[in-house]
Amino acid sequence: MKTTIALSPAPQAPFDLVEADLDEPRDDEVLVRIVASGLCHTDVSVRDMLPAEMFPRVFGHEGAGVVEKVGAAVSGIEVGDHVVLSFDSCGACERCRAGEVGYCESTMVLNYMGCRMDGSTTVQRDGQPVGASFFGQSSFATYALTRAQNTVVVDKSHDLTRIAPYGCGFQTGAGAVLNVLQPGPGDSLVVYGAGAVGMAALAAAKGLGVTTLVAVDLHPGRLETAARLYGAVGVRGDEPGEAGLVARIKELTAGGATHAVETTGVAAVFKDATLALGIKGTVCTLALGAPELTFDAIDLFQNGKSIRGTMEGESNPQTMVPRLLELAAAGKFEVDELLTAYPFSEINTALTDSLSGATIKPVVVMD
Ligand SMILES: [Zn+2]
Ligand SMILES: [Zn+2]
Repeated sequence: MKTTIALSPAPQAPFDLVEADLDEPRDDEVLVRIVASGLCHTDVSVRDMLPAEMFPRVFGHEGAGVVEKVGAAVSGIEVGDHVVLSFDSCGACERCRAGEVGYCESTMVLNYMGCRMDGSTTVQRDGQPVGASFFGQSSFATYALTRAQNTVVVDKSHDLTRIAPYGCGFQTGAGAVLNVLQPGPGDSLVVYGAGAVGMAALAAAKGLGVTTLVAVDLHPGRLETAARLYGAVGVRGDEPGEAGLVARIKELTAGGATHAVETTGVAAVFKDATLALGIKGTVCTLALGAPELTFDAIDLFQNGKSIRGTMEGESNPQTMVPRLLELAAAGKFEVDELLTAYPFSEINTALTDSLSGATIKPVVVMD
């Protein structure tokens, strides 16, 4: 069948809206008409990281839409269901059986390689394969093929445009707080990078009643948003180091943060995040940035500090997405105001606005 995709022809190249051919769903696949898709920094970091021979490709991994067809082997999903799409997992390996689907043994193939497990692509153009199945979806398209594991059925009362980012950015930031760090009311949480992931972490922490919230960013507008929505104290991160950022954070958190979430992937920021922790404090790192990060080993060991990595905030999308929707309905996860909608044809503008910091969470709408 025909689909319109935002084609990525090469690393760094702008998106190009073109028509392509999408396979009919196989037995284990679901055909979804995409209504909206969030843009996440991972779309561009992966695009710009892959070698040129892995193109053309179609990205997008925060899709939401309506089920149009269901493969014979898929259960629990029906035509007409409203769905939020998330990352894919095999459902059968040891990690998946333990519910830790973010660490699935087949993560690389199912989410990043651009093809199915058998090497075929779901999308073709002029008879040539187009890398797709990004996070098991490639949602920068009017239609996508997904699998039951990464397709979360949601109540039809939700506005799909508003909940598209729950499948990646929002569950990652919220999961770092709710699943990994689990701060209590008397604790402090410092978020480095007040983008969508950092804001979702603040939203979740506010919902838990965490007393001291701090947001570190270079964009004054983002700091204002973090203050207005979550009561977070804003800190401009433009003076790094022990005399600058670290001293300021320690001052705001009575000697050092109990918890921190690092979303920038900038090595200097990560190091400051570790230095600004209090005794036995923990920093959770989420960013796809500098491949090597450093910390002061003596500081870490003398103060019993912890560094935690996490995939998607340890979220199992099948339970995390409904949990966050419930929290949002109860006023304990306020993220609606972070969104800015763009028509699909404006996807390049959406990306530019996101990279400049003008927009926190762009969502492209297909109609
Ligand atoms: Zn698995
Ligand atoms: Zn993402």
